[in-house]
Amino acid sequence: MAIDPLLGEFADRRTEDTYLEHQQPRTRAQLAFTLLFCTLFFLCFFATDVAALGLVPDTALLLGARLVVAITAGSCAWLALKRPLSTGATRLAASLAEAVALACFMVIAVHRPGEFHWHAMSLAIMLLVIYLYIPNRLAWALGLASAATGTFLVLTMLFGALGFADMLTLGMLLALVNTFGALAARRYGHVAREEFRARVVLQHAAERDHLTGCFNRRYLHEQLMGAASPLQAGEPLTVILCDIDRFKQVNDTHGHAGGDAVITSFAGLLQSVARDGIDSVVRYGGEEFLLVLPGTGRDAGVHQAEWLRTRFAATPALVAAGDQPVHATASFGVATLGPGPHSAGVLEGLIHAADKLMYAAKRNGRDRVESLAQPASVPAGPLASAA
Ligand code: GH3
Ligand code: MG
Ligand code: MG
Repeated sequence: MAIDPLLGEFADRRTEDTYLEHQQPRTRAQLAFTLLFCTLFFLCFFATDVAALGLVPDTALLLGARLVVAITAGSCAWLALKRPLSTGATRLAASLAEAVALACFMVIAVHRPGEFHWHAMSLAIMLLVIYLYIPNRLAWALGLASAATGTFLVLTMLFGALGFADMLTLGMLLALVNTFGALAARRYGHVAREEFRARVVLQHAAERDHLTGCFNRRYLHEQLMGAASPLQAGEPLTVILCDIDRFKQVNDTHGHAGGDAVITSFAGLLQSVARDGIDSVVRYGGEEFLLVLPGTGRDAGVHQAEWLRTRFAATPALVAAGDQPVHATASFGVATLGPGPHSAGVLEGLIHAADKLMYAAKRNGRDRVESLAQPASVPAGPLASAA
């Protein structure tokens, strides 16, 4: 999760997209709030048009320009607040509001040519808002701000009637605002992403097992049995509980490191068949693992367990180069809940049932799969029939 030092964005596109998606509700709220706030100020500054020009036809033109900004920025704010805008659309709305506001600002500046030193101050404030408050991609903000600064300097030369010293000061001040604005925006983007990265690392450490990278019991209880429950009405749910056979002997013969290698290889096999973002592999105990397979029926679950069993038995784990590979087998218990209205706590009952089946597999000789459709603690109706 490296952060590009130049752009202040995650170097990896997918990580950047995940971050932006995670930030999106906050980004939309910030865009809406900032645009509404700026629109209000932009309209209030009509008072300065009247004070500078009096009530002449040009004043109406400037009011028109201010209203165009208000309508554009107001619409973008409304969209950000009320519509589920994508991250791309939010940036587009931000850029549109910024471009229209800067263009209308130039129109106003040209119609009040005696005050270019004040206009420079207003532009500096607008640029800081663009860099720091309106959420947008830094590259886009930089492009818009630089183009506006260049245009403004040309207009100052054409209409401003400022001396060389004033022009130089104004140009240098705007260059300074752009430089520090862009640097501060980059720093802000960097810090926000560092915070996100720390949160991801912490969350990973809190819900994963250190040795295998599988989910831990905390994840099972807090997520799978709670907020992220895999139970969807109308879908079957299968759990597979599996335990490596005679593992104490593996430890005794090959040492703890040998045992660890077998556990890691078994976990890797289980994770290789888990569907990304759908299935969960939990390290349930020392060498005992739980697979939670939403949307998987009993036949598919048994088929998967059989495949894992034969594959594990046929794939010896490598402890270290030069050492003898370690052969091991595992026993599996498969329990399925058919589609239907499910109640909370059903996953617990299903795991309990799979646990009993796994111990039945041990009793029946090990290196085998047992499945039953009617776990004791789960209501009889929705379960599939016995193996
Ligand atoms: P069974 O076929 O009945 O499952 O026999 P078993 O020997 O596998 O019995 P059991 O499941 O009770 O043994 C678990 C052993 O796993 C005991 C414990 O020392 C070992 N163990 C637990 N966690 C770890 C670990 O992280 N690494 C290693 N190397 N061993 C572990
Ligand atoms: Mg065991
Ligand atoms: Mg065990």
